[in-house]
Amino acid sequence: MKKRVYIIYTGGTIGMTPTADGYVPAPGYLAEQIRAMPELASDLMPEVDIHEYSPLLDSANMTPADWHKIASDIGSHYKQYDGFIVLHGTDTMAYTASALAFMLQGLRKPVILTGSQIPLCEVRNDARANIITALTIAANFDIPEVCLCFGNQLLRGCRSVKLSADGLDAFASPNLPPLGEIGVDIRINWELTQPAPPVDSILRVHELIPVSIGALPLWPGISAEVVRNFLQPPLKGLILKAYGVGNGPTNNREFLSALEEAASRGAVIVDCTQCLRGSVHLEDYATGSALAKVGVISGFDMTTEAALAKLAYLFSQNLSVDEIRRLMQTNLRGELTC
Ligand code: ASP
Repeated sequence: MKKRVYIIYTGGTIGMTPTADGYVPAPGYLAEQIRAMPELASDLMPEVDIHEYSPLLDSANMTPADWHKIASDIGSHYKQYDGFIVLHGTDTMAYTASALAFMLQGLRKPVILTGSQIPLCEVRNDARANIITALTIAANFDIPEVCLCFGNQLLRGCRSVKLSADGLDAFASPNLPPLGEIGVDIRINWELTQPAPPVDSILRVHELIPVSIGALPLWPGISAEVVRNFLQPPLKGLILKAYGVGNGPTNNREFLSALEEAASRGAVIVDCTQCLRGSVHLEDYATGSALAKVGVISGFDMTTEAALAKLAYLFSQNLSVDEIRRLMQTNLRGELTC
């Protein structure tokens, strides 16, 4: 029996057409093109249903409300389909993939985000191959997690980052090898995929409540005033993008005080590295341990995208600040190595 895959089209370059202002999503266009693809007649392809959102969005315009719409849509069609594809703009795809990983708890079926750098309407494009590959994986491999499929790689969603503004291999997961390599064959690295939850487990779709969180990169000379202003209420959580293994300008007493004041009033300050690869180790240098002493916690090797999504998710769970701090440093969906 043919597998069934539910395709959600949210917008993004993949289904855009050119206008005088640049590319914009064209309602109806992509769904029509996908339905007409001769490849869909193959036995290797699943039966598909396509749900096009309205309005279609450039992903630069997406917010957590859009993540919620996607997560609920997957939740309400979960039983009827074997896999899910989310066609999405590339600009914020890694954020959505990270958020969905936290919002969809107990996932036993693949949820695969993909898009393209060149729209399907162009003669030379990466849209067609990305759609066919995502469909092939969703129909033939029971990977129980949120993934991002792009170019020749299948990545864990909550480990992925957009690496290139114009390359066709636009994404990477710098701290985790790809879950799958797409070449002549599709090779899944099963030893890396998340374990499937028990057969009778029920998918839980978590809602995100609006919460004030942010990310701030350090730079040489950043003023304590900027940090203090950034940390003003209602800010509840901050991803501090620090240097190397998590270091900062700790000879600046005012900088440390700004962090300490915020942490002691309950702000969750998570240290993630500005480096693309590697992990935070606050104890390695005095410039890291001083941050830990004023209440900054380690984000280990989480991407900024995953750390922000995780903060939003944990602040929506009615947890104490101590529990949020503990869980930020605990692996929940394969987002960190510690
Ligand atoms: N601006 C587009 C978007 O993120 C870029 C893309 O899809 O490649 O929606």
